[in-house]
Amino acid sequence: MSKYSIDCCRRIAEARRSKGMTQSALAKAAGCMQSAVSMFEKGDPSKLADSTVEKIAGILGVKLEEDKGGQSAPPVHHSHIHGFCPNCSCPSNVPFAVDGRVIFRPVREIASPNGGPRCVECGEVLETCCPSCGAPLNEGACCAACGAPYVASVVPDGADAESWSRARRAEIRDIRDLSRA
Ligand SMILES: [Zn+2]
Ligand SMILES: [Zn+2]
Repeated sequence: MSKYSIDCCRRIAEARRSKGMTQSALAKAAGCMQSAVSMFEKGDPSKLADSTVEKIAGILGVKLEEDKGGQSAPPVHHSHIHGFCPNCSCPSNVPFAVDGRVIFRPVREIASPNGGPRCVECGEVLETCCPSCGAPLNEGACCAACGAPYVASVVPDGADAESWSRARRAEIRDIRDLSRA
């Protein structure tokens, strides 16, 4: 538990940017990891030890106030989760041919766990982690942990991956144009 608030993270980030200092330069000067600075600046004060925060504040010339609780803005709760639609015939999944196979790149949907995490395109319940191994979602079409494609592909037998994907992408473009019209 850090004694510093999210507001403090923000002020550190602003001070660093206004000095034109990179995160890595600041991390080096303070003797910590750039990734920790990055997470701290994004609003997680617990990513840096209080003593490191004080050191950084000294380097940047920022005056810190401790988080006394209740006085600063409430912490941001991540009520939104990321998910993708597992339905390969849904227009939110865009197919590409990779090494003769069709791989679907899901468009990330934002779903609220309270408000019903469903696909805005087709109503399917969104997957919020890798359906094969349960690992957290990464960007891209396949799970970084187990390598499985997120969207199971149902391409007709004998179809040419390249031309099938191209035709399907054209269809998806048409669907999107229609829904916009
Ligand atoms: Zn869908
Ligand atoms: Zn996986």
